[in-house]
Amino acid sequence: IYGQNREPLRSISSYQDITGQYEKELAYQKWMEYMNEQKKDCIGYYEYNLKYDLFGEILDELTSTLPEYARNTFSDIINYIAEHFIYEEDRENYLKVFNRNQLLYYYHGNRSLQTEHRRLRPDGTAYWCLGLIQIVPDPYTDTIKAFILIKDIDEEKKEALTLQEMSKQDSLTGLLNRGTSVRAIRHILKNSQDHHILIMLDIDQFKVQNDSYGHQFGDQVIKETAGILKHFLRRNDICGRIGGDEFMVFLNDITCEQDVIPRIAQLCDLLKRKYPEKGEVSCSLGVVFYPRDGENFKELYRNADIALYEVKRAGRCDFRVYEGEAARSSLHSETGV
Ligand code: GH3
Ligand code: MG
Repeated sequence: IYGQNREPLRSISSYQDITGQYEKELAYQKWMEYMNEQKKDCIGYYEYNLKYDLFGEILDELTSTLPEYARNTFSDIINYIAEHFIYEEDRENYLKVFNRNQLLYYYHGNRSLQTEHRRLRPDGTAYWCLGLIQIVPDPYTDTIKAFILIKDIDEEKKEALTLQEMSKQDSLTGLLNRGTSVRAIRHILKNSQDHHILIMLDIDQFKVQNDSYGHQFGDQVIKETAGILKHFLRRNDICGRIGGDEFMVFLNDITCEQDVIPRIAQLCDLLKRKYPEKGEVSCSLGVVFYPRDGENFKELYRNADIALYEVKRAGRCDFRVYEGEAARSSLHSETGV
């Protein structure tokens, strides 16, 4: 404050604690830096003003094809993307997460969330994406912003799903499931110098049993078939349920091939049983020898399936050992396959 002759008289200073504001700004700047870094590895980046329902920046190849009518609000864009680019099974959940009210709700909670969903490629195939959402108060404009990053996680996710599938047991029977059985058999066959047997086994006329006596009875038959197999096998053998009424049995390290045929016949007999008032249940078995009938799992599986098909064709409730290429070609010419 100056006097009449412009001489300084007094000065007044006031202090304000701006720590809170400063910290908010700093956090926001750090967050922006982090986002800018993250953007590089992402296939989509969205900056969205939640309070006013406006988009800031959008970087996503999907949005280049957005028609004018779908560009107005967050909901417009999200709905358009969901309908055109999100895999049908994931659509509902996608819309639930990318919803303005839902995001505002998160503003009062932990403010960051993740969601996995599948996007569709132009050719219609699906790939896995991870959506990372961070909700941040904007200290400069007193609004609420949502930052959304979309990452392509297809490779990792598929790998994880395969491993998960492989480690699963079949819940109905407690046997290995298809993935685990195949992996275990492939593992043994890798560089194996031993002799093994692979059996494909399918319950006969199971559909009829199911349709006549109900699904529950069908399940009981499946479980009891699994029980007979478990009881019959040795500790190092492998047994899995690979589909509805189909099983795969791998007899590990066979020392005498001729001894094993009567054992398979015995198994076939054990699998044939009578249910009071419901009739007889039996199975058909296709048998292949390793290494004679196939060098790897794929060949063994194919040939065991051919042998199984022959049993079915010949009237079921029996087993058959694969008879080699000659038998196969005569089968093909008969069936016209
Ligand atoms: P085939 O002798 O030629 O094998 O005739 P099938 O009637 O057994 O024919 P198929 O093997 O194709 O039938 C399998 C049936 O198994 C079809 C399906 O309804 C039934 N199924 C599949 N999974 C289950 C299950 O978990 N429980 C029950 N109860 N039935 C199942
Ligand atoms: Mg069957």
